Amino acid sequence: MVLRSESSDGRIAQLVEHLDHNQGVTGSSPVSPTISLGQLVTEELRVHWELHGIDEQAVALERSLAGHPERRRAHEQRVAAARGALATLDQRVAESVRRRRQLEGDAASLLTQQRRFEQQLLSVTNQQQYEAMQHEIAAVRSRRDTLETEALERLEADDRDQAARPEKARALEQAEADAAASAAELAAEDSRLRTALAGLDTRRQSLAASLAPPARQRYERLRSGRGGQAVAAIVQQACGACHRALPPAGLQAARRRETLLSCDGCGRLIMLAPEEPARP
Ligand SMILES: [Zn+2]
Repeated sequence: MVLRSESSDGRIAQLVEHLDHNQGVTGSSPVSPTISLGQLVTEELRVHWELHGIDEQAVALERSLAGHPERRRAHEQRVAAARGALATLDQRVAESVRRRRQLEGDAASLLTQQRRFEQQLLSVTNQQQYEAMQHEIAAVRSRRDTLETEALERLEADDRDQAARPEKARALEQAEADAAASAAELAAEDSRLRTALAGLDTRRQSLAASLAPPARQRYERLRSGRGGQAVAAIVQQACGACHRALPPAGLQAARRRETLLSCDGCGRLIMLAPEEPARP
């Protein structure tokens, strides 16, 4: 556990100078120039706690924003799937119709051939020719039957596809409508989140500006290196960010609320919530 002395002499000198300089001007905060060290540090803790709250909110908003592309993709995938299903059906029907026309043409040719054989049957002169012709006729008829059966099966399948088409078309329309609604919703939410983030950023900057330069630099450095969270609350005797438990000495120090502590696990600044009553 590292107990950092956050109020270097330079910091105190600067704050006192600041207070002296502004006292007669602002008249807002009844700060005594003989302010104690404890109170000064408490103010620094308070600022860090407020920064902690801002950063928690900002991280949550950023996370929402980061989820938007995935939500958009989910809708786009649904539209693509519905469009694909409809296109597959249409393509299958189109191919089947072409194939049926070909089958029907071939069957018609076979029928012509069969009729010709049947005519020739009338002019055969012996039993052998008769049987040969009968054989030819049976073969042609059998081939024609096969083609006609396939054509019929295709017709039935095409009917089923055509019957299923309206539902698939509706599914596509619905998916497109949902995607459009969701896109509009996400765009509005995007802009709302970005506005909120900009507001948080403004508050963060003005708060951070009230810190002494070393403290401010440390906060900024931690914030950029720790996923936007430089300060963590101590929750159930552990760092609220990485959950590293605090040793008893660290907890005692945290309860005094005099200094900022640094987490051994993640390096963030850690502190107890100011409103939490200090225990002995
Ligand atoms: Zn930690």
